[in-house]
Amino acid sequence: MLNAADDAFAEGLDRAGIRVKPADRSYLEEPRSLYNGTSRQVALPTSTDEVSRVVRICAEARVGIVPYGGGTGLVAGQVATDGPAPLVLSLERMTAIREIFPAEDTIVAEAGATIGDIQAAAEETGRLFPLSYSSQGTAQLGGALSVNSGGLNVLRYGMARDLCLGIEAVLPDGNVLHALKRLRKDNTGYDLRHLLIGSEGTLGVITAAALRLLPRPAETATAFLAVASPRAALSLLAICREQAGELISAFELISAEALAFLAETQPDLRQPFDEAPEWAVLTELGMGPGSDPEGQLGMIFERASEAGLVLDGRVAQGERQRADFWALRESIPHANRRIGSIASHDISLPLSEIPGFIEECGEKIRKMLPCRISAFGHLGDGNLHYNIFPPEGETRDAYLGKTSDVTRLVHDMVVACGGSFSAEHGVGRAKSGELERYADPAKLAAMRSIKAALDPRGIMNPGAVIT
Ligand SMILES: Cc1cc2nc3c(=O)[nH]c(=O)nc-3n(C[C@H](O)[C@H](O)[C@H](O)COP(=O)(O)OP(=O)(O)OC[C@H]3O[C@@H](n4cnc5c(N)ncnc54)[C@H](O)[C@@H]3O)c2cc1C
Repeated sequence: MLNAADDAFAEGLDRAGIRVKPADRSYLEEPRSLYNGTSRQVALPTSTDEVSRVVRICAEARVGIVPYGGGTGLVAGQVATDGPAPLVLSLERMTAIREIFPAEDTIVAEAGATIGDIQAAAEETGRLFPLSYSSQGTAQLGGALSVNSGGLNVLRYGMARDLCLGIEAVLPDGNVLHALKRLRKDNTGYDLRHLLIGSEGTLGVITAAALRLLPRPAETATAFLAVASPRAALSLLAICREQAGELISAFELISAEALAFLAETQPDLRQPFDEAPEWAVLTELGMGPGSDPEGQLGMIFERASEAGLVLDGRVAQGERQRADFWALRESIPHANRRIGSIASHDISLPLSEIPGFIEECGEKIRKMLPCRISAFGHLGDGNLHYNIFPPEGETRDAYLGKTSDVTRLVHDMVVACGGSFSAEHGVGRAKSGELERYADPAKLAAMRSIKAALDPRGIMNPGAVIT
């Protein structure tokens, strides 16, 4: 593999009319500041044809390419750390909403459009694009699809994959895959859309996608509920499902520690309870016009209180309080970064395993080191962000030697419970060793064969996902 800073290579890009600029820090860092990229140049194509030209030139010169979206990925897929410096290929100039089809409830957007841009375009036509997470103002469609990101509304609307009907992408030989169909049904052989989604830039560059839009819930109700335990939260979820079925848009679990970190780092945020409960659930119902989601929440609250599951609760009185509730949830990652974790994990488990896992894993980790554990996440999806922090008054520096032991314990337990060591953040470079360790051998072998068949020169995001 050659270096992207090679003069002949740079001249080739220039002759092909591709704008290139030096890679400043913003392309070389990632949100957790754990990895630094080595790339020195960034290509800034404006069209699918230009992306194809860049990829052909890289393929010929055997120069690696790192596709780059908003740079918010949490597993270092967007920063190459070893080997010859690759070219960063940023989609930041491909931001068009190509077309909206209100009668079909579909939208076609370029890969560089942010999730927030797509939500806003959908809203203008009275529709909902439900992918939602706190980095949505920066994260791009290409990044979201290539990681198959999740977020707050997966319980009701699914992951990025579930919202994508068709895809346009440049394959590692420079050929353009024209699969930008707006079809719900299309059984015509291998579905390359689903191969590219979740491939984290290792099989091609996504340049555009056709996406599903949904009706905007006319009435919503949001509640912050104190629950006795994760087991009580699961029983509450079952009651919510019985009462409101698929109308539950979100069901988030938040631990006392997460609320304490918010109080410590962002005291201006309004917390619903004077004293933080051991566990809390943030849930939202979204329903059609003329419905009464608040009434539904009231009935859920009543049933759950009678069963001793809910100890206290607040239903948002108006948009401002709803925004306050969500601000708390969305600020947790920021608070965690301020405190500084020893180890963080994005895990998923079969729902019924979660209470036992939280109890047992906590006990085992506390035997290993003194610590605080902040667990929060999308309980309705079986997805927990399970993070370990130093004891109060200490910084993580003294404990970083324990990080890999803690992660081994957590991931071993997760896998033993039938769970996954990466629920929604992907594999990238940070977890490629974990994939090697835990993936089914047949899956790994098939992944390697697919990679070798589509990208025989190994130019697409070298070092990410499979090593
Ligand atoms: C505060 C915060 C909160 C977050 N919350 C969530 C959450 O709730 N749920 C969740 O799932 N994620 C979350 N994330 C992670 C991240 O924001 C998402 O995974 C996001 O979708 C990544 O998009 P991006 O455009 O920033 O991708 P990048 O970080 O730029 O890239 C991510 C990966 O995608 C590849 N890539 C980027 N663009 C393309 C393309 N066009 N074609 C092919 N490959 C490409 C890159 O090479 C890299 O491997 C959060 C991150 C932060 C910082």
